[in-house]
Amino acid sequence: MGPTTLPALQTNPKFIFFTDFDGTITWQDSNDFLTDNLGYGAAERKKGNADVLSGRRHFRDLFHEMLDSIDTPFDQCIAALLQNIQLDPGFRAFFDWARANNMPIVVLSGGMEPIIRALLAHYLGEAEAATMQIVSNNVAPLPGKSINDKGGWKIVFHDDSGFGHDKSLEIRPYANLPQDQRPVLFYAGDGVSDLSAAKETDLLFAKAGRDLVTYCETEHVPFTTFNDFSDILATVKDIAEGKLSVKDAATGRK
Ligand SMILES: [Mg+2]
Repeated sequence: MGPTTLPALQTNPKFIFFTDFDGTITWQDSNDFLTDNLGYGAAERKKGNADVLSGRRHFRDLFHEMLDSIDTPFDQCIAALLQNIQLDPGFRAFFDWARANNMPIVVLSGGMEPIIRALLAHYLGEAEAATMQIVSNNVAPLPGKSINDKGGWKIVFHDDSGFGHDKSLEIRPYANLPQDQRPVLFYAGDGVSDLSAAKETDLLFAKAGRDLVTYCETEHVPFTTFNDFSDILATVKDIAEGKLSVKDAATGRK
């Protein structure tokens, strides 16, 4: 992709904000919710997670297995998520500021796009949600079925990586732009799948108390923590107004 075709450069922004979705823009992880409540349950999922963390399994395979254990029709999965998944309480104000200040928000997610779109439209409004680029996995019907049939759908991965979605692939073309054309790149996330993305950006916001904080410390990736998007907004505002440098903002675990 050449610089002119990068979607987030269309408005010539000074800043681009890349972000994870589940557990970052939302309070809970929608895939964990579906697995725990409509699939094989939390105990099995946590056992699988421990295997991923210790390197015995790829996240991609666990994720596939988790979602395969759910045979609820896809539209009913979305309905359950709309009732149970909450938006980060600071996200609306952050989103409004980003729009008013020409900072594109790009969602990079290992989740499924129709779920992300439905939740964002529910909380922000259809037109507002449509302004955000979403790069994620998707969903497809199984042979002879519709996704809204019982046992009718499966996840379709974005790429061949062990995470199912290598988030660094999307950020790297921006990170590699010539210095005079390159916007400042931010990233927000909470989990292990965010680490590849984290290394590409200028400032990483890692959710306090989550796995990503520990990983950043181990891998020596500069970061700052956040509790909700009001923390992120305050820092991004200070940087945009020239009161704070990206370097000084990376205070680590505060
Ligand atoms: Mg997450």
